[in-house]
Amino acid sequence: MMTLLAHAKINLYLEIIGNRADGFHELVMIMQSVDLADRITLNPLNTPNTRLLCDHPLVPTDHTNLAYKAVMLLQKRFPHRTNRYGGVEITIDKKIPVGAGLAGGSSNAAATLFGLNVLWQLGLTRIELQELGAELGSDVPFCLAGGCAIATGRGEEIDSLHNTPKLSAVLAKYTSLAVSTPWAYKTYRQQFEHTYLPLKDTASLEERQARVHSGKMVGALGTHDATAIGRHLRNDLEKVVLPAHAKVRQLKETMAAQGGLGTLMSGSGPTVFTLTETPDQAQSVLQSVRQQISDPDLQLHLVQFTSQGIRQES
Ligand code: ATP
Repeated sequence: MMTLLAHAKINLYLEIIGNRADGFHELVMIMQSVDLADRITLNPLNTPNTRLLCDHPLVPTDHTNLAYKAVMLLQKRFPHRTNRYGGVEITIDKKIPVGAGLAGGSSNAAATLFGLNVLWQLGLTRIELQELGAELGSDVPFCLAGGCAIATGRGEEIDSLHNTPKLSAVLAKYTSLAVSTPWAYKTYRQQFEHTYLPLKDTASLEERQARVHSGKMVGALGTHDATAIGRHLRNDLEKVVLPAHAKVRQLKETMAAQGGLGTLMSGSGPTVFTLTETPDQAQSVLQSVRQQISDPDLQLHLVQFTSQGIRQES
């Protein structure tokens, strides 16, 4: 039996560059792991079955669960090795809000790949696991790496950023509200395709350099300039999610008014976060937001940046 912690991520930066030949978007993202984590327990079974247990009502327990898909991918790719070890029971203790822009499903898939690599003695390197993970979802390679990283391509090409600051954040999400990631990207394309750079192969290096604006955020992280990190937060998907969801727009306005370094929606939302330098400051933002919005549907989490990706607990 093995227990793993699968951390959530927030996007400090998400810029949409253009279309890709494979139908996805070409992106530049800066992602950061936070210490809000699901607990994934892997229990080897004597039978060849895969079984998934999760008591969260929005999480599927069949083959559509990303952790289940991770098992199927490894079984398909390494049939001789996996036949030797039988099946596995996966138990997900869900702490990461679902459909929230926090990569909950992707981190569960990453933990499952990581754990089965050990249990089934597959001997895969982290790079190899990340290549497999990219077949399950664009955020899975980042979830395997963890920490702070710049993600390019469709988000699956990861370059870790080292020695970045450990900030705190308040995450806020309406429990009953979820945003579909495909919907957010599709709507963005409908509204903003005219601003896209030509396909990667046809755009010149100069065109790309002029279009990508992530350098200032990377610089601010490198120099631990917390004020500049707050100033350079960016998420292009806010342009479609905030107009479509008045509650999220109001939440962002309320949170931004409580101080902190900056406030942004994470990924395709609807989670909104405010960054602070210390946990005490985050606590005071959290209390102010709670006073301003008494809606019990609003869940608030105080988190800290972490350098950890998937971690084995026992
Ligand atoms: P991302 O930030 O990568 O776009 P997200 O945080 O917006 O992801 P998830 O929490 O991963 O979204 O869930 C999106 C949908 O995926 C859920 O509504 C659920 O039906 C499905 N799903 C499949 N596997 C899982 C899983 N292990 N955990 C949570 N949701 C899952």
